[in-house]
Amino acid sequence: MGRFARPTWVEIDLNKLKKNFHRIKRIVGKRKIIGAVKADAYGHGAVEVSKILEKEGIYALSVASFEEALKLRENGIKASILVLGYVVPSALPVAAKFSIPVTLFDKRFIKRLGEYRGDRVLNIHINVDTGMGRIGVAPEEVPEIIDALSVLPNVALQGIYTHLSTVDSDTCYANEQLNVFEKILDKIKKKGVLPPIIHAANSAAILNLKRSYFNAVRPGLLLYGLTPLDEPIKQFEPIMNFKTRAIYSRLVPKGTAISYGRAYITTKETLIATLPVGYADGYSRSLSNIGEVLIKKRRARIIGNITMDQMMIDVTDFPYIHPGNEVVLIGKQGEEVITPYEIAKKINTINYEIVSRIGGRIPRTFIYNSHVKKY
Ligand SMILES: *Cc1c(COP(=O)(O)O)cnc(C)c1O
Repeated sequence: MGRFARPTWVEIDLNKLKKNFHRIKRIVGKRKIIGAVKADAYGHGAVEVSKILEKEGIYALSVASFEEALKLRENGIKASILVLGYVVPSALPVAAKFSIPVTLFDKRFIKRLGEYRGDRVLNIHINVDTGMGRIGVAPEEVPEIIDALSVLPNVALQGIYTHLSTVDSDTCYANEQLNVFEKILDKIKKKGVLPPIIHAANSAAILNLKRSYFNAVRPGLLLYGLTPLDEPIKQFEPIMNFKTRAIYSRLVPKGTAISYGRAYITTKETLIATLPVGYADGYSRSLSNIGEVLIKKRRARIIGNITMDQMMIDVTDFPYIHPGNEVVLIGKQGEEVITPYEIAKKINTINYEIVSRIGGRIPRTFIYNSHVKKY
């Protein structure tokens, strides 16, 4: 954290990340693990998270964009890094040079792969759309795609995968997707062209759908100790705390308007505290007047509209509030906990969005063994 930074920061407990990773390993046994560290590891800090996962022996990482993969390479990550999303064709030689496998999800991409002339092998995973409706080739296209790839020099088919859209809500549909996937796997197996790495399971599937494991799994959220299911699971511990400190407190009379739009007017004499964090930091403005934070090991309510960089809480019933008191936005304080899940429910979204949107201007602090490393 910079010497002159405002007192708002995210703490990441890498010891807990390590535990979550090994917990997943115990669940999936011998299968390879491809950890999702896209979007800065869902807001947790992709470089530090990847370093730990690599040290613990993860098989590969996955990211959404080629630039995310390059950033990890530039920071010394040696593990394989699969790009799940679109890669501009001009990046292909660089992908081969830095051992970054890319996804083929559109058969028109074969032409681009055919233009690759490097002498390093370019690894490909085919994404088959079995019902996600996002990216992916049609199942029936797979055999011809494999044939077309097989004649390309220095292009190797390393894997084939699909993505499940409903494991957290509808395992019946997920099973139908897997039926489609298995059928196509069978077909290419009979032709003797089955690629070595076969994967489908995201976090929800790791918890709920053993059938989807194949020989590799792709957890994201679970690594961070969160689950896509309705309830937190004891064996996985969240690794993030999002914290700030009160920078101001003031006793105001009944009838005082708080923040933009006068969306809150005090109904009694009120002690308010101002926090140096706002919606530009990824703390959603939708939490205005309904969000809660922890201070002095108890819950306090956000009052008035959250502004870009600051927000107010009601601390009338709290003794001895001073500027400098630590406030927890996400995480634990004493016995109280605010989970990303709780926040997500309030504003009708999912915990993935709550953590991944925590802004780039918030410094991340990492705890590993008993060391604290600040950025
Ligand atoms: C993000 C992502 C994952 C990981 O999903 P979680 O639900 O976080 O486990 C797996 N596969 C693909 C294709 C993804 O985009």
